Amino acid sequence: MYADIIVDISAENLDKTYQYSIPDALVDTAVPGTPVVIPFGRGNRSIKGFIVGLSDIPKIDQDKIKPIKSIEGKANSIDSRMIALAWWIKEQFGSTMNDALRTVIPVKRSVEAKLSKTIKSLEEPEKLTCRLEEAEKKHHVAKVRFLTELISSGSLDYGLVTGKLGISTALIRKFTEEGVITVETNRVYRNPFNGTDRNGYVKPVLNPGQRSIADEIIGDLESGIRRDYLIHGITGSGKTEIYMEVIDKVLEQGRQVIMLIPEIALTYQTVKRFYMRFGDRISIINSKLSGGERYDQYLRAKNGEADIVIGPRSALFTPFPNPGLIIIDEEHESSYNSESAPRYKAGAVALKRAEMENASVILGSATPSMESYTMAKAGRLKLFTLDKRAGNASYPHIHVVDMRKEMKEKNRSIFSRKLKELISEKLEKHEQSILFLNRRGYSGFLSCRSCGKVIKCPHCDISLTVHNDSTMVCHYCGYTIPLMDTCPDCGSKYMASFGIGTQKVEEMLKNDFPGADVLRLDADTTKKKNGYEEVLSKFANQEADILIGTQMIVKGHDFHNCTLVGILMADMSLFVPDFRSGERTFQLLTQASGRAGRGSKAGDVVIQTYNPDNYCIQTAARADYLTFYSDEMALRRTMDYPPARCMLVISIEDKDEAKADEAARGLATRIRTYFSYEKEMRKILGPVPGTPAKANDLYIRIIIIKAGDYGLLLRIKNDTEQFLRTDFDDENAVSAGFTFN
Ligand code: ADP
Ligand code: ZN
Ligand code: ZN
Repeated sequence: MYADIIVDISAENLDKTYQYSIPDALVDTAVPGTPVVIPFGRGNRSIKGFIVGLSDIPKIDQDKIKPIKSIEGKANSIDSRMIALAWWIKEQFGSTMNDALRTVIPVKRSVEAKLSKTIKSLEEPEKLTCRLEEAEKKHHVAKVRFLTELISSGSLDYGLVTGKLGISTALIRKFTEEGVITVETNRVYRNPFNGTDRNGYVKPVLNPGQRSIADEIIGDLESGIRRDYLIHGITGSGKTEIYMEVIDKVLEQGRQVIMLIPEIALTYQTVKRFYMRFGDRISIINSKLSGGERYDQYLRAKNGEADIVIGPRSALFTPFPNPGLIIIDEEHESSYNSESAPRYKAGAVALKRAEMENASVILGSATPSMESYTMAKAGRLKLFTLDKRAGNASYPHIHVVDMRKEMKEKNRSIFSRKLKELISEKLEKHEQSILFLNRRGYSGFLSCRSCGKVIKCPHCDISLTVHNDSTMVCHYCGYTIPLMDTCPDCGSKYMASFGIGTQKVEEMLKNDFPGADVLRLDADTTKKKNGYEEVLSKFANQEADILIGTQMIVKGHDFHNCTLVGILMADMSLFVPDFRSGERTFQLLTQASGRAGRGSKAGDVVIQTYNPDNYCIQTAARADYLTFYSDEMALRRTMDYPPARCMLVISIEDKDEAKADEAARGLATRIRTYFSYEKEMRKILGPVPGTPAKANDLYIRIIIIKAGDYGLLLRIKNDTEQFLRTDFDDENAVSAGFTFN
């Protein structure tokens, strides 16, 4: 047996492995992650390393391979645990060990000595309060926002003020000149809330539903019982407060906490809530951090300077010395699945890491994924349910509108009569509305009414999206061409775009309600730095009556004055070619509905659909997760889809279309020949062109395999890798990606 060993665990040197032989006495203990001492270089000086791979094939002349000297060091150190986790990820999700290691070990970056600017108030709180009252009277919303935060915190991070709070530099200059505040430079960036006064914070008293869940989990922690949990609680039911209560206990036991939140929900309010409760012991990770800042947070965790890390899926790999709890909020979110190698699922990795660390996992969602709920039903996760909103908010009233009927009755507007009526009503009452445009899947693409041609990107084979500035853009690669007015195939002049965008909705809304103040939140707005936060905080501050947006408004802020959510094109996501489209639709509709009536006022939701009888729409309208789950599960069973069965998608990619075809066909034949007789085999489909069939100039072919158990799929994956390695020499090698569903 031979072992691949790395001697420097840093992302730059991960591919520098050296092969050593494993002495017989060590064969049983030498697993990936094991720390070893090896003779290195000409002088054979003893140095330390870690085993990252095993094999029975020597890479060089057998006689030249030196044996491992000994196993030494703590087999349980953070580094060795993270390497063992990487190994598991590689095995489980079919990537190279290198990619897996790169995922769990971040790139070492020098932490740039970043000077940060802090805003400090120079006036007494009473004086500031007077200013605040004055600003409120004059409806100076930006001033109100700024002064409110300044009064509650005393000092504020400059970047936070101009960024997340959306305050202009002109306003800061004005206050500085008037002697209200001063801007200090020089402090090293650590935490944007540093110095914020936390004295005003009072823990809410948990309601009985929250209390009993928290008590049960805390009870398990106290008795040292390791368990994993699923909290199924409707939006606003107070799951976050339960997490915080349990976190308190874990910290008290001297252990650390990893909390995953989808990046889009990691807003100023969310972060502040955690800061107010836990102070400087939190570490926040997000994609806007520079490499150095990210590494800084990594080191803080490793050195014991932080106990709680909050961030997206990469936060799972925080090198805490003794993590006791991993929380995944909104666990159904697809952003928890990695889309590049290793294509891991955060939920599965969390369960594995927790098992390795003797820690617990809490998954939380208003719409648990089919997988998690199935695990809960099977007893793998302990299930808790919260079906009432915390505080005094109540669940909104949901109206389903049949758009076919609207059309028949001569309403050709994109707004149903019910929706228009409610918008007017809310405008009169000075309450706010959100119009949610379901654009997952098909967007505004251009097609020919005469011959049916759809204009596509030549590099990616997906339809181009029409922008109102008369161009068409590829959303995969950015390819842009002018809008066409004649069909390139048949010359017809009847080119039209299907679907509508947020800009179009805004135009029509302004047409119907000229007096309303409208804000828009879509990919264009968010391209601007902090554009997303700016729009959301404007809306939260009631600077607009109506907010139009795509999926990204579904998460995030609590809008206490928002009492209407209109869902346009609720069906769009039903027709995406993906077996999870029904589940996604149910989740989107439920989450969007959850935005209405979070405050004390009752809310309304209007779902506009051409398929009012569809079970996803029906169950979402009744907020009936259990019926949705059992209907959907029945379908998955009939169709052999996960989680009823296991599914592997192999994608073969090559620059040369003929080669991609040949390799994919050869592979499919091989799999059919060797594996179709297996008892657990259900279906082998394909090869078919991928969706898209071409991306970044690579042709993609897909083979889908459904099986009764995961082990069979793993064997097929290993066999495929072997086959692609041995039957194609380097020059002809085609690459394959594996996605386990
Ligand atoms: P979820 O995470 O389930 O969406 P949150 O924990 O964010 O719910 O709670 C929703 C709202 O209700 C928040 O504004 C929160 O401060 C408030 N809240 C939660 N629990 C309580 C409680 N026990 N008493 C009063 N307010 C609460
Ligand atoms: Zn045509
Ligand atoms: Zn493209």
